[in-house]
Amino acid sequence: MNCLEERILKDGVVKEGNVLKVDSFLNHQMDIDLFNEMGKEWKKRFEGKTINKILTIEASGIGIACVAAQHFGVPVVFAKKSKSINIDGDMYVAEVESFTHKCKNQVIVSKKFLKEDDQVLIIDDFLANGCALQGLIQIIQSSGATVAGIGIAIEKGFQNGGRIIRNLGFQLESLAIVDSMDWKTGAITFRNM
Ligand code: 5GP
Repeated sequence: MNCLEERILKDGVVKEGNVLKVDSFLNHQMDIDLFNEMGKEWKKRFEGKTINKILTIEASGIGIACVAAQHFGVPVVFAKKSKSINIDGDMYVAEVESFTHKCKNQVIVSKKFLKEDDQVLIIDDFLANGCALQGLIQIIQSSGATVAGIGIAIEKGFQNGGRIIRNLGFQLESLAIVDSMDWKTGAITFRNM
């Protein structure tokens, strides 16, 4: 069991509706030593890949991506969530449905920060149905840049996102894959990797 899995068992809380709450160490209060270990692990898993930029999505991905970026020595760009329908032509735009908030957001990235020759590693906190990731992939592809890989902290393996993204042929490296969780007992099981 790796340190993220151990921490999920220790401090994660399973909520009704397939939501895993990890706000004491991942996406509200943040354990930077843990993030650092995660960054180190992604660096190992993407060894040999050319990566010159990390793309994440606000808000929860930003802290994780910034710490990981220190291991890759590259800048971080985050996609902004925007309710505005008047987005000008200087932005790449994708529509993303939020799993936790059940609403649709447009996510935007300035055209200044994604170029054709970029080799982009996507980093995010959770993978559930894969909407957020598909939005980020769409943005990278509209810019002509390449998705070099995808690093996820916690994949919920009983939802569809992981299968969809792997079937598209991307290298997806999730540091913990939750195969089942039960909000009544609090039990969590991980996929053996
Ligand atoms: P997806 O787009 O893959 O359905 O959902 C991914 C996004 O939803 C993540 O960026 C994350 O913010 C949020 N999310 C999905 N499932 C969970 C969960 O179980 N717990 C928390 N805290 N966030 C989640």
